[in-house]
Amino acid sequence: MPKAITIEDVKVILTQPGNSRLCIVKLLTSEPGLYGLGCATFTQRIFAVASAIERHLKPFLLGRAVDKIEEIWNMSMVHGYWRNGPVLNNAISGVDQALWDIKGKRAGMSVCDLLGGKSREAAQVYVHADGNSKEAVAERVRAFMAQGFRFIRVQMGGYGGEGSPMVKPRNAPPGAYFDPRDYCRQMLDMIEYVRAQVGEEVELLHDIHERLAPIHALAFAKDVERFKLFFLEDALAPEDIAWFRLIRGQCATPLAMGELFNNPQEWQFLIQERLIDFIRMHISQMGGITPARNVAIFADMYGVRTAWHGPSDTSPVGHAANLQLDLWHPNFGVQEWYLPSELDYAIFPGLPVVEAGYLYANDLPGLGIDIDEALAAQYPCRDIVEDWTQTRLPDGSPAKP
Ligand code: MG
Repeated sequence: MPKAITIEDVKVILTQPGNSRLCIVKLLTSEPGLYGLGCATFTQRIFAVASAIERHLKPFLLGRAVDKIEEIWNMSMVHGYWRNGPVLNNAISGVDQALWDIKGKRAGMSVCDLLGGKSREAAQVYVHADGNSKEAVAERVRAFMAQGFRFIRVQMGGYGGEGSPMVKPRNAPPGAYFDPRDYCRQMLDMIEYVRAQVGEEVELLHDIHERLAPIHALAFAKDVERFKLFFLEDALAPEDIAWFRLIRGQCATPLAMGELFNNPQEWQFLIQERLIDFIRMHISQMGGITPARNVAIFADMYGVRTAWHGPSDTSPVGHAANLQLDLWHPNFGVQEWYLPSELDYAIFPGLPVVEAGYLYANDLPGLGIDIDEALAAQYPCRDIVEDWTQTRLPDGSPAKP
């Protein structure tokens, strides 16, 4: 029997080429030149993930055979006893994606091929149009349409909107304030305007980003129904997901949910009861390709499509993993896409490219992406106290971001 190829080293690469701090795992193997990359990016708690990998997972992984992806994933999840948290899930994802990358390289096949092969040649993507007025949003949508994009998420003034008149109490602390009721009025007005300006051909999306009380999210989903969104994203906070039954019962606005989910208990009933239309976990946040594969198959049984989370706080390696899943599973819906910089493409050779609204893979073995470590090291992670997540209601009380 040939000697097993084993994990020889587990490297954590932290880099910040743009706004988001990124965490990449590089697994080195006993086979010279054979390595894998995985995304472990939980950008707001990046150093906790790095420490979980270096101090806890690495000692556990060294010397293990690289071919046992399932066994390593399941044992990684339980051997810390406490499980399903965002730090640990992201740490496990970095290892899991790297093991799939290695398996593909050994087989001479893309991860999509390992999973069963392509259902489609490219993945349709949605991009983010934002502006400080409805006219500016419509302008941005038109510019994206001119570039060939057919799925466009429309926001105004960032999540929760901005510029709402509000009365704050004395000594109100600093923060990212928003007024939920004014947000509803402004967004409905903006979506109505944009739809009238750009017509019915383009697919519009909107992300509530869990900013509303459940009853107001229900009212918004009903009010926005007539504008025929492709989907309404994160209408509820994960803590409120039982309310999806009420939204579902009262309107046909397509619903997408999942980027904050940690635990299978959160998505199972939403899919089984057909309470949402699109499941959209952050692949590293849920633990990597192995659990995402299971969710995609499970969702397919119930007619639920995927729309994996993919803004700039998914690393380029994570985007490459998203795309391998998108190309494979039959129940793919749409892929969220950020607009990578030239520096992103320089640090991460093989980062997928968009052409006329479609995201293409390079079909190289594994995930098809690499990292220029010397260049990445020139952009170290900065210490940041996030502002946008310090969200407050008009009376100053903390709100979900
Ligand atoms: Mg979102």
